[in-house]
Amino acid sequence: MATFGTLSDRLTETFRNLRTKGKLTPADVDGTVREIRRALLDADVALTVVKDFTAKVRERALSDEVNRALNPAQQVVQIVNEELIAILGGEQRRLQFAKNPPTVIMLAGLQGSGKTTFAGKLAKQLEKDGHTPLLIAADLQRPNAVNQLQVVAEQAGAAIYAPEPGNGVGDPVRVARDGVEHARRAQHDTVIIDTAGRLGVDAELMKQAADIRTATDPDEVLFVIDAMIGQDAVNTAKAFQDGVDFTGVVLSKLDGDARGGAALSVASVTGRPIIFASTGEGLDDLEPFHPDRMASRILD
Ligand code: GDP
Repeated sequence: MATFGTLSDRLTETFRNLRTKGKLTPADVDGTVREIRRALLDADVALTVVKDFTAKVRERALSDEVNRALNPAQQVVQIVNEELIAILGGEQRRLQFAKNPPTVIMLAGLQGSGKTTFAGKLAKQLEKDGHTPLLIAADLQRPNAVNQLQVVAEQAGAAIYAPEPGNGVGDPVRVARDGVEHARRAQHDTVIIDTAGRLGVDAELMKQAADIRTATDPDEVLFVIDAMIGQDAVNTAKAFQDGVDFTGVVLSKLDGDARGGAALSVASVTGRPIIFASTGEGLDDLEPFHPDRMASRILD
């Protein structure tokens, strides 16, 4: 994964230096922690997350846990690995399905974050798993958004509910509510609602998303965030958490050469799990997110 290339290289270098030592002095630990801190900050990880992370690593690295270890350097690497898994959310969290279908999944995020593409990817994945998803086009902000979802639905081989001209056009809340009703009648077991997003956080659109949430009572509200967003990740994620109280995160564009800070900040700052990683423009480029595997990739 290109995203973590530089961070990964720098951590590898740090640990290589550490491994040349036998017993670790407090100065060795401090030097290592300082290098980890710089590498994380340069990767655009949010300062609060970095502080928290390095404080935990330092405390554990100076403890008996490391003193007693046969290979102290290896023990420090293990600690970094465990703490990375923790900031990435700990255990893997899967998509939650409703006891009584349809399971309603609403998407939210900035324009260009990859929502529509993810809607298609998820629909395709659900189809493959034997579900009968319905995509709902509730992004009526951009003229081309409904068309784009139609194209994606066709590629995914999934059904779509889109407003007919003159029938509910301009009222995304109504389209979303009617779409869920339609899914119930037509016995779709899953519903994916695509919503509008602006380039920046926008009060009116946030209210619209909140209204769609209230009107459709979703089982999951997934916040799609572009891994390239860098330092803005935290503020954007917090604004969406306040606005729509999302239940999970989708990291998109993890195939890019972004520095990975968004990925490493969002779960920790919002306390919401990352459920999927989107890794390309194609509809098959979707993976369930595993905190432990991601940590291993970073530390490889
Ligand atoms: P939306 O405005 O949030 O619906 O975003 P779109 O789904 O339209 O995506 C915006 C752009 O990002 C499009 O050109 C997509 O092809 C591209 N895109 C979406 N997801 C990914 C991804 O995981 N990797 C890459 N490289 N590009 C992506």
